[in-house]
This record gives sequence, structure tokens and C-alpha cells, in this order.
Amino acid sequence: MADNRTIIQYFEWYVSGNHVLWKKCIAQASRLAEFGITDVWLPPAFKVGFMEDNVGYAVYDLYDLGEFNQKGCDKTKYGSREEYQEAVRSFQKNGISVLADTVLNHRVGADGFEDASAVYVDPYNRMAVQSSPVTISAPTVFNFPGRAGVYSDFKWNHRHFTGVDWDNYTRQTGHIYRFADKQWAQDVDREYGNYDFLMGADVDVQSPEVREELLRWGRWYLDFTGVDGFRMDAVKHISAGFIKDWLREMREYKKACLPAVGEYWSGDVNALLDYLNRVDYCMSLFDVPLHFNIREMSYAEGNYNMADILNNTLLQRCPDHAVTFIDNHDSQPGQSLESFVNVWMKQVAYALILLHKDGVPCIFYGDLYGIPCTRNIPIPRLRTMVRVRHDYAYGEQHDYMDHCDVVGWTREGDAEHPDSGLALLLSDKRPGSKRMYVGRHFAGRRFKDCLRKIREDVVIDEEGCGEFTVQGFSAAVWVTEEAYENLIIHED
Ligand code: CA
Repeated sequence: MADNRTIIQYFEWYVSGNHVLWKKCIAQASRLAEFGITDVWLPPAFKVGFMEDNVGYAVYDLYDLGEFNQKGCDKTKYGSREEYQEAVRSFQKNGISVLADTVLNHRVGADGFEDASAVYVDPYNRMAVQSSPVTISAPTVFNFPGRAGVYSDFKWNHRHFTGVDWDNYTRQTGHIYRFADKQWAQDVDREYGNYDFLMGADVDVQSPEVREELLRWGRWYLDFTGVDGFRMDAVKHISAGFIKDWLREMREYKKACLPAVGEYWSGDVNALLDYLNRVDYCMSLFDVPLHFNIREMSYAEGNYNMADILNNTLLQRCPDHAVTFIDNHDSQPGQSLESFVNVWMKQVAYALILLHKDGVPCIFYGDLYGIPCTRNIPIPRLRTMVRVRHDYAYGEQHDYMDHCDVVGWTREGDAEHPDSGLALLLSDKRPGSKRMYVGRHFAGRRFKDCLRKIREDVVIDEEGCGEFTVQGFSAAVWVTEEAYENLIIHED
């Protein structure tokens, strides 16, 4: 059996804007590999349209990775193009695969305006047209004068977009304009009638010129940066057929599987399942429904049925395509989709996603290092749990998802991972205990709680079972005595 994967999202919204993140990646790559990180999701490396909104999603130029004097700066928030390339190499040298945040839906910060014929659509029902065609001054001229044709001479104009949210003649906010000779893509999310439009200038992936250009860009990006895979931004707003084609072309070009995970922000597992079906399961999706279940449980003050925690999640319904996570840069305090998991519950939540047999977990930078500006502290023993996942969370899983306050499971371990096997209990309220089967081959062996809350050891009986306990509002993770000693040596 191959080693378990764990992704880290290596940024949070308020990470320092002093162009230092790529340097931190270079400095930390070996440390991350040591405690069991196998994949890193790096933030969008592209020049943004407004330096005030510099996290990377307000993309201006996909070919400017912090190299050209555009939008008032040559570097991006995170550093220079050379530093980005070196960060990618540093991770790979340490055996960590790099997932590049890929933002294809929209462009922001046009170099100029141009007249175009457009109709107003109802922002709450984008299929409803509210006006006859009018001439607007559209922010759709992207010539990239600061780059001057390096890497690509493609220039964008309104024929490459479906719609915009700005008319420079009327200069009013709150409107959405669809170009009169365009239609929204049909294979997108159905919220607001049609959710093709998200922000800025919406890229028209139905245009043959645009499709060719985005394929050309993808091949360039793979060659230029050497990244191993993709985190696909905002896929609910992009034609599913296009995303499927684009990933297939990239994989054919590199003759590699190029792992990909899509951001489809919906708490409805059926919307995610429908999308996976439409893209022929060519990627995984973040398990947003699980995030919402965990968040609800974390604020329910114990009045949540823990036996239901995995209900209607991707982890439960399509585990091979689930990337599980607790929080991210959008759910953190102060951000657009704010839905931060209650802090006391985070260790419990991470035990759940890191030690389950299914899904690939993605841990959040803000939970590993803390978020100083909103006073969020690092989650205790998060590194320990990643290490447990990497070294010991193997073998058959036995579920005990059978109680409203205390649930758990065990893993039997396997021959390829010495001292592997574990037992875990999670409580959202009362303390509790459970007799759980870990395997007859453990008879007589001692298990210890590596979160170090339960001090008493558990000795496995002749039948392969132990009586495990957990404190209230808490997690307990038992590993073999030998594994425990090894974990203590490496603990921070
Ligand atoms: Ca779109």
C-alpha cells in the first residue's frame, strides 16, 4: 500500500504581503516533508488587476508570475517569478508534489475600455434580460504593455468575454452586462439561473480563440514552472465540458496523471456528485458539505448527532474523489464565505479527516501556523496527527459511528508500515468510552493517546479489543507504544 497523502494549503488570506511567501516555502519544504506532508497547494502565482486585492484570484495576467513591471509592481504578493520556480523545485526535491492554483474564470484590471453592445441581466436571474442592447464602455482590453509580448502575444478584447460587471460610461456598481452576441455557458452551476458570471470580465471559454489560448497557456505554465497538478478555482462558474477538455489536454501533453482538485463551493453533495459525473470524474472536489457538517457540529454545543457527521458528504458518497478540509482562505474570519469552524472543535475535526481511511485531507496554513491578525492560534498537535496519518493510519478500518456524542474507529495496521494501526474517539459533548476491535495481532500490546489527554494506557485483550476513552469536547488518538515513543521524539 502506498503512503497516505496529505495536502497543505500553503497560505491564508492575510499572509504577509511583503513578497516573502515563496522564500518561506523554500525554507520550510524539508520540514513539511519530515512530518508527513506530500502535496502543497500554492496560492495563485499570477499578477493581479489591483494590488489592493492581491491574494491572487483577481487575475490580470496569467503569464506574469512576478516578473514584469505591471500594476505598479514587478513581484506578486508572494515574491518573484524566480522565487516561485525555486519554491516549486524545493518542494519537489523533498518529495512534495506542487498543486498550482489555476484561475481561468475571469480577468480583472483591464488596460483599457472599449465600446461593446451589451444587455443588462437580472443579477438574481442571469437568464432574464432586462434591457435591449446598449453600448457600454467595457473593461475588456488586455494588452499587457508591461510584458510586451514575452511568452505570448495574445491580446484580449470583448470578443473573448461573455460579460462584465462594469460600464465605464455609467460607472454604477451592482449590474451585470452580457455582451449582446454572447450567451452564458450552459454547463455551469444553476444558482441565480446561471452562475457562469462570478466577477470582473468573464472569460468566454466557448470562443475557439480563447480555448486555444488557455491550452497554450497551460502547456507553457507546466513547462515553465514544472508544477505537478492543479487546484482549479471557481469551477462552478466555468463550463464543465471545457474543464474536462483542458485537463485532458494537459495530461496528454505531459504524459502524466497531473492530480487536480476543483473548488466547487456548494454544501449540496448532489451538486458535487452531478459535477463529478459531468466531468467524467477527471478530478477530485473539496468536500464542502463535510466542512459545513463540522462547522454546524462545532457550534451546536453538544446538540449534534455525531453519528451523522459524515452524512451527505463527498467522503461518504464518493470517497475516491473527496479532498477533505476544515477551513480555507475563503472560510476564515473576515472573508467572503466566512464559515470558520469553532476553534475548540478543530483538533477533533482534524483527527476526523486525517485518520479516516477515505479522502485526501488538506490542512490549512492558518491552522498550522495560526492567523495573527484575527488571533487564531495554531491547532495543537496538528503535526503529530499528520505524522500519525503518514506513518500509522493503515489497514482495515472498523467503524463505531454509533452514538450521538462519542464516535470512533480503528485501523488494523498493515505489514508495510511498522507499528501501524490506531484507535480514535471523537466527542462533541460528554466524555465516553467504547470497546473497539483493533485486531487480534495486537493482543497484549499497549496503546497510548498521542494527543496526550488520556494518561492511562489501553492493553489490547485476547479478542483484539480495547476499552478506549475520550474526554468531553475532545479527541483521543491511540497508537502502539512503539509508535507513541517515535512520535514523542519528533514532537515540536
Ligand atoms: Ca464563467
